[in-house]
Amino acid sequence: MHSNPFKILLVEDDPTDAMLVRRILGRSTTRQFNIEHCDSLRAAQRFEGLNQVDAILLDLHLPDSAGLGTLKRLQEDASQVPIVVLTGLDDDAIAMEALQSGAQDFLTKESFQSDLLERTIHYAIRRHATLRKLQVEVQLRRTAEAKLARIAHYDDLTGLANRAHFRRSLDELISTCHRSKQQFALMFLDLDRFKDVNDSLGHMLGDQLLQQVAHRLRSCLRGGDIAARMGGDEFTVVLYGVDIPERAAEVAKRIIDELHAPHSLSGEEVVVTTSIGISMFPRDAETRADLLKGADVAMYRAKELGRNNYQFITSALNKRVQERFMLERGLRQAMAKNEFELYYQPQIELQSGQVIGTEALIRWCQPDGQIVSPKDFIPILEETGLINEVGSWVIDTAVRENRRWQDLGNPPRRVAVNLSARQWQRDDVVEQIAQSLQRAGLHAPQLELELTEGEIIKDPETVKERVHALKKIGIKIAIDDFGTGYSNLGMLKKMPLDMLKIDRVFVRDIVHDPNDAAIAQAIIALGHNLGLKVLAEGVETAAQLEFLKQHGCDIVQGFLFAKPMPAPKYLRWLENFDHSSLCARRSA
Ligand code: C2E
Ligand code: CA
Ligand code: CA
Repeated sequence: MHSNPFKILLVEDDPTDAMLVRRILGRSTTRQFNIEHCDSLRAAQRFEGLNQVDAILLDLHLPDSAGLGTLKRLQEDASQVPIVVLTGLDDDAIAMEALQSGAQDFLTKESFQSDLLERTIHYAIRRHATLRKLQVEVQLRRTAEAKLARIAHYDDLTGLANRAHFRRSLDELISTCHRSKQQFALMFLDLDRFKDVNDSLGHMLGDQLLQQVAHRLRSCLRGGDIAARMGGDEFTVVLYGVDIPERAAEVAKRIIDELHAPHSLSGEEVVVTTSIGISMFPRDAETRADLLKGADVAMYRAKELGRNNYQFITSALNKRVQERFMLERGLRQAMAKNEFELYYQPQIELQSGQVIGTEALIRWCQPDGQIVSPKDFIPILEETGLINEVGSWVIDTAVRENRRWQDLGNPPRRVAVNLSARQWQRDDVVEQIAQSLQRAGLHAPQLELELTEGEIIKDPETVKERVHALKKIGIKIAIDDFGTGYSNLGMLKKMPLDMLKIDRVFVRDIVHDPNDAAIAQAIIALGHNLGLKVLAEGVETAAQLEFLKQHGCDIVQGFLFAKPMPAPKYLRWLENFDHSSLCARRSA
């Protein structure tokens, strides 16, 4: 007799049938059967060690459950155990369905009389065990395949993509970016003097170093970026969606700094430097080979230039990025070093011939005397976030100086200040401006804020809300560069504005280009229909002035009257202008 007894759970409500099963199995000469008995589905479901029995004999017709549902419900609790279903003689259909539902076998109760019962149980258990073994094998094979796939695609040591995988990914990226006209940057990294480290510290620490490098490298990248180890101490990186070289340069700088921080290798502190070459798709190259070669060549140039730096393929790009960083560094110090200055350009009301206000325009006066135009640095201030600080300074200064001019005896006039998009997005913009006015003691209507249509479009609801709040205080609002952006006339109507400023480009050819003339006239009409004043920017000639006068433009600003000037010069100009207009009036 076999030494291990089979543990069987019999789920059967008919005591006679239950007794019969016990008796038949008790007579077995090959095996000992330990039989546990439940007389309802509930009892079976709650049976302790349900999943440890060797097999279940299940009557489908129980007091608390009938039919195939009985099997299904029990399977949920006893997923690991082979089940043999017990049926009546005429239950063939149900028996077949039970098999399809995962029962190992079925028996009609009439066959209890023979040793069929014992054999059926036996084979049900065997088949079930075989099936389980197969399932485990399949699972093992899947794991092995996944592991193989990982080995095929990823570098064992660092977990980064390997060379082959990187090439495939790069090819895919190139074809997608060709189609979608997207750009990206490719970097080639090489640790400087890695061989020395490896030779002096040994391979074990060399490997550890490479792992740390990979880890830090990954921490500098974003989700869609790809990092790969091409072999040895060579790494490549794709910066996805990077469209300007400055951005790639920033990441390269970050990587160089990050990798330069001391590495602790089993107690040893090791410092390494990195050289990086960068190529831009599609600007520098459009194929995988050219991109890689370009980045490789640039990387060698970085090494020649003293290591621990990055280089682009082309010298033009290197120069551009260099200049841009110089500019950025200079700008970061400009506030502290007091290098910003406001210039003022007068605005003249045509009907009265009086100066009614002035626009404050920022200048960056560098230590070498060079004066930088806001067009060259406002975008950088925007990108770096420095605009908030500088913008506050502009408002403060313009408001304070306007107050001072009046204190010197000048009649009250408006000062117009340009606000950039980032400033409009600040939650405290209204409060900040109100405080500025209060500090200086300037009447709110003597401050005008200029915003462009582009700034409105970025977040119409917020801007609208803020314009309303500013108007409530009494501040004037002008739309700058009108006609060049996406005009949303519906939006304009909903905002309490004071003025439209016709952009310079329409004024330039206003006399000779009928289209520009028509646009200028249309803006004047539109502004007046909305109850706004209309100002023309960039008036340089008497002919332009004449045209604007004739078509009812209210205010003009331009080189014809004055260029933007520093405050002292502006005050002198005002004196002369008053004087000359007085003379003109007197002689008239
Ligand atoms: P903008 O607001 O359209 O300013 C008018 C620009 O036209 C000024 O250039 C002014 O010097 C120039 N201009 C005035 N009259 C004439 C003319 O008759 N002919 C010609 N050709 N140009 C004329 P600027 O000062 O270089 O400023 C350029 C832009 O920089 C400004 O355009 C404005 O968008 C921005 N900006 C200037 N100061 C600030 C500031 O404090 N904050 C912000 N966010 N932006 C500023
Ligand atoms: Ca302006
Ligand atoms: Ca303008």
